[in-house]
Amino acid sequence: ARPTGRYLHKDHQLWAPLTLADFEAINRCERSLPKNFNFAGDVLDQWSQKEKTGERPANPALWWVNGKGAEVKWSFEELGSLSRKAANVLIKPCGLKRGDRVAVILPRIPEWWLINVACMRTGLVFMPGTTQLTAKDILYQLRASKAKCVVVSEEVVPAVESIMSECPDLATKLLVSPQSQNGWLSFQELFQSASAEHSCVETGSQEPMAIYFTSGTTGAPKMAQHSQSSLGIGYALYGRYWLDLKSSDIIWNMSDTGWIKAAIGSVFSSWLQGACVFVHRMAQFDTDTFLDTLTTYPITTLCSAPTVYRMLVQKDLKRYKFKKLQHCLTGGEPLNPEVLEQWKAQTGLELYEGYGQTEVGIICANQKGQEIKPGSMGKAVQPYDVQIIDENGNVLPPGKEGEIALRLQTTRPFCFFSEYVDNPEKTAATIRGNFYVTGDRGVMDSDGYFWFVGRADDVIISSGYRIGPFEVESALIEHPAVVESAVVSSPDPIRGEVVKAFVVLSAPFKSSNPEKLTLELQDHVKKSTAPYKYPRKVEFVPELPKTITGKIKRNVLRDHEWGRT
Ligand code: ATP
Ligand code: MG
Repeated sequence: ARPTGRYLHKDHQLWAPLTLADFEAINRCERSLPKNFNFAGDVLDQWSQKEKTGERPANPALWWVNGKGAEVKWSFEELGSLSRKAANVLIKPCGLKRGDRVAVILPRIPEWWLINVACMRTGLVFMPGTTQLTAKDILYQLRASKAKCVVVSEEVVPAVESIMSECPDLATKLLVSPQSQNGWLSFQELFQSASAEHSCVETGSQEPMAIYFTSGTTGAPKMAQHSQSSLGIGYALYGRYWLDLKSSDIIWNMSDTGWIKAAIGSVFSSWLQGACVFVHRMAQFDTDTFLDTLTTYPITTLCSAPTVYRMLVQKDLKRYKFKKLQHCLTGGEPLNPEVLEQWKAQTGLELYEGYGQTEVGIICANQKGQEIKPGSMGKAVQPYDVQIIDENGNVLPPGKEGEIALRLQTTRPFCFFSEYVDNPEKTAATIRGNFYVTGDRGVMDSDGYFWFVGRADDVIISSGYRIGPFEVESALIEHPAVVESAVVSSPDPIRGEVVKAFVVLSAPFKSSNPEKLTLELQDHVKKSTAPYKYPRKVEFVPELPKTITGKIKRNVLRDHEWGRT
């Protein structure tokens, strides 16, 4: 009998599900994309079958804790039946139809995963946003996306109510909360009475599946639309090669629900491998809760932003015995080699960095089994041909700095975003000749390792020299006084622009004499890198401006230096 949510692939002779080998072959362009694909029907429901036949160890699919004693553990079977109920809530009482866009602004609560999978099952376009969005951000997103439905937790209700009269397409408002509110449908109430019978829609592989926002490090976040296969096949493969997951593993990916890293680490890549997604509700990052969690729960795999590791290495990590931790990952921002080395010295664990973008997924990474060169982002990740190019789209040789770019074949790679929603100019601007340009600058060495220099806009040009902020920041952080820093250009009457460092000091150095410490840091950088890169200006600050994902917003500091608002 034909199982629910499966179909006959054009390339298959039987009602056969896609295997991991098929996924890899598609990725290498050795097999064409199937006409239809749906991650819930084709991947999650397969794992649910494997649970029944004992082909998957007893390991939850989702393990959620809130740090206050509440806990949720779902198998793939339970995730299946609960997400079918959620699918019926979205289709029936909410009246949504395949292709409609659903803005989901929820904190890390189990319903986020249910609604995400329910959107896959019903062919709705899932559009997650962080709960830290302001009313203005929400207005922009709802209007630009013409979202039909918004799903929120109670803290977001006032913001939505203040702008909803300006969103003519918004037909349904769904509230996820134990309390009901006037004018809002209650997810909890509707869910109680919803049926668990639902057959998964046979979505086309290239049909839109989700819209993810870029981090907004350089301006307003862009809305990158992805298809069923870009996320469900392309991004899903990072679970095998970068996250190195098996179905017995438990991964704690700390990303907020609003960003692409949640899609990678907390949905597609982890679940393709049948691993358990661990979630801590933690409203705000706090190192003690973080370390407690790793010593209490059998987490095998950890993925977090570099800023988290920068904070952690300030602690005496040798005092903690992590229960099962084996594999640690980071990405989203450059990782300073000093932090990698300190983490390794204190925990005995390597730190595997990945470099990627919301638009195209992981571009380079240090993958298990490859030698790590501290400070490098590793080698190109399949299926990408990563090159360093100049402004005319010519490939530069190893050792030469230029823009990091992906060579395009005749067709757009299936794992690419399909577009920035309603912004064809911006979408077109990412292509230069035969290349997709990342907007980041770097160098490839003769072993094929990539070294990040900086975002193109962040590179400083002083007296004719090009200076990448990352190298200077990495030199500064080697000094015990420096927790982290941001290096930007600052105006100078003679040199045009000079290097300025904003520095956050470690506790023992907070009361040091600033003039003396400035000289000491300048000396340190002169010894550690080419002397012309040293920061001629240094300012000590209590903290750095960051995005919600924890990335340093150098543009805010730079604009301030140049008197721009
Ligand atoms: P926006 O495009 O809205 O300004 P963003 O570029 O930060 O924000 P993301 O798609 O989340 O949005 O991040 C991708 C960018 O993050 C990359 O282009 C790069 O600049 C930076 N990045 C990601 N990983 C790394 C890494 N390992 N090393 C250096 N930079 C990284
Ligand atoms: Mg970007």
